[in-house]
Amino acid sequence: MKIEATADQIRALLSLASGDGEGEVAQCALPPLVLERWRALVAEGRWPPAVAIERGTCSGCHLRLPTMVEAKATHSLALYTCPHCRRMLFTRELLQQDPKRETVRPSRRRRRPAPESRS
Ligand SMILES: [Zn+2]
Repeated sequence: MKIEATADQIRALLSLASGDGEGEVAQCALPPLVLERWRALVAEGRWPPAVAIERGTCSGCHLRLPTMVEAKATHSLALYTCPHCRRMLFTRELLQQDPKRETVRPSRRRRRPAPESRS
């Protein structure tokens, strides 16, 4: 099953899951269907209710997804249902490709030299 969702809505779900205090705000932006699903999953003890697809598997239950689900999910950004645990699935790469948000990672400063030097 596919639930239409924008990148912003999926991010709102993730911020709900991370519990960073934006929960109330985020809920306002979510379609009732998504919220309904969210609450049902929380009630069942499935946490987090929205997870990324990792290499064709659900990162919630770590079971292999049907090829069809995986193929669809990698082509269009939406929320898909894991047939095993019923969590809401999305493709992280598509979320990152969203042009509204820059995905520039802050450059990490290397303060310590890598402990690879053998003497
Ligand atoms: Zn699952």
